[in-house]
Amino acid sequence: MNMSDFYSDGARRLKPSAIRKMVHLIDKPGIISLAGGMPSTETFPMDIIRELFDQVYARRGPAAFQYGLTGGIRELAVWLAEFMATRGVTASSENIIMTSGSQQALRLVGEVFLDPGDVAVVELPSYIGGTTALRNAGADLVGVSQADDGIVTDELDATVARLKAQGRRVKLLYTIPNFQNPSGISISTSKRREILRLAARHDFLIIEDDPYYELFFGDSVEQPTMKSLDEDGRVIYLSSFSKILAPGFRAAWMCADPAIVRTIEIAKEAADICSSTMDQAIVLAYCKDGHLARHVPKIRRFYYERRNVMVDALRRHMPAGVTWTEPSGGFFCWARLPSGLDSEAMLPESVDRGVAYVVGAPFHVDGGGQNTLRLAYSKEAPNSLTRGVEILSKLISDHLRDPNGSRTGN
Ligand code: PMP
Repeated sequence: MNMSDFYSDGARRLKPSAIRKMVHLIDKPGIISLAGGMPSTETFPMDIIRELFDQVYARRGPAAFQYGLTGGIRELAVWLAEFMATRGVTASSENIIMTSGSQQALRLVGEVFLDPGDVAVVELPSYIGGTTALRNAGADLVGVSQADDGIVTDELDATVARLKAQGRRVKLLYTIPNFQNPSGISISTSKRREILRLAARHDFLIIEDDPYYELFFGDSVEQPTMKSLDEDGRVIYLSSFSKILAPGFRAAWMCADPAIVRTIEIAKEAADICSSTMDQAIVLAYCKDGHLARHVPKIRRFYYERRNVMVDALRRHMPAGVTWTEPSGGFFCWARLPSGLDSEAMLPESVDRGVAYVVGAPFHVDGGGQNTLRLAYSKEAPNSLTRGVEILSKLISDHLRDPNGSRTGN
């Protein structure tokens, strides 16, 4: 039977994630993976999770497995509203909705705000799951470059002005302001303020996607959240338990204007009725009993150590001409090769030599970034990180010497 006549316009627009498509290539036994952008399973507090599961089950019994409110367990929404004060935001439970991961929030924002042909502005590079969710909603994605201190605001201004002059509707900016996936870049305070000014002037919304907030390596996140600077309710703030507990919980929250929260809630009713009630009950106990506050400093140290190992290896081994970011939090370094080298073309050879990374081009909605790659230090043990960077550096040096030669098996 030929299905193609049956698909909706929306289904025809669907694109698989470029990273997930690459998995068959890089997911080989024994390979050192600088590709996987996931937290290390070593950071999952398994003893606490087991204890909290038992506690929730003892207290709530089968009710812990019943459907729940679409917006999430109220007590958790109240806790998170208060928790937002640690991110400079005054909120009440009316501002909070639980989602099944921030990924669902991105999907729902796309559904609620974007019509086919609307423009969503995104950073170059940007998180593929985010750009895919917005694109699948039918938006045209337009990229704006980043400097070391975040999105280039003059370019953002000029881009939006140009699009508006062409009669385009720029609905929103999607930004990951802290320790960005994939670049590791954080946006400076002055640029955050400028982004808000531009959003007010050109009248667009801001999706502030902030799953790495707690994973800073200094004393704190130095810059205020954009939500804390938001005076007219145009910032939709997203954060998640995936990196500070475990992603299997699929527990995340949105903090936004109550009118937005109510609309998202209606869209979510049709998406999944509610996020897992058992997951939320465990998350609530994890937060309320102080486990979150005790756990997070440990994982900061864990990832800081790995980041230092990777940065040290990059400094020691990478040939001249290669540059990279040295992030102050999160999971990722972002490397740029001398122009002319193509990270996608090099990947099969890199995998043959025993190391995988994620090629940079799919993070660029403008089709650029062929000479870039994402290196995650979150997953591998320190000695593998060092070895992985060594292998990769040698591969890049070989290609710089002889761009066309085949060295598979060296
Ligand atoms: N946003 C960003 C920037 C991410 O890196 C991720 C996960 N890699 C997500 C959203 C989705 O996270 P989750 O759905 O697990 O909360």
